[in-house]
Amino acid sequence: MIDASGKNAVDPKVIKEKEVAFAQFIQDRGLKTTKQRNTIISVFFAMRGHISVEELLVEVKRANPKIGYATVYRTLHLLVESELVQERRFGDGLARYEGHSGVEHHNHMICLECGNISEFSNPSLVKFQGQLAEENNFKIYRHRLELYGACKDEKACQLRKKKKAAHAHGGG
Ligand SMILES: [Zn+2]
Ligand SMILES: [Zn+2]
Repeated sequence: MIDASGKNAVDPKVIKEKEVAFAQFIQDRGLKTTKQRNTIISVFFAMRGHISVEELLVEVKRANPKIGYATVYRTLHLLVESELVQERRFGDGLARYEGHSGVEHHNHMICLECGNISEFSNPSLVKFQGQLAEENNFKIYRHRLELYGACKDEKACQLRKKKKAAHAHGGG
């Protein structure tokens, strides 16, 4: 299982690489570099996991309280267009963004009790998909597997639920 808890710090070298790649994208697009956008990008790439606009906004405001929702939202969409970031929507329909999944393909398990999203990858799964495709004379371009259920460790699940409730705030 890949760690998606958000506790492990991202390698600064990786952050730098993403920043450089995005700067190139901005230049190719003929857009201007802005300080606010650079701040948002640095903050985002230092985060792990599956991040909503609101979650990113909280962190961004710590770096620069003047940056607003709209700028964060627009920057995330640019990041998606640059293909450095993937947008995902799980059961609750909320858009979440992840920037550290490009290297290794992974699937998701979503806990409907506490909202925890964990990641998994499995080589025999990939093999099985290939086998299925062959049997059905089908060529796979991409795939997505999302499992919905509940964390087995109920205690941990309850704890997260509490934490989530404490974090919940009225987002517009
Ligand atoms: Zn993921
Ligand atoms: Zn759970």
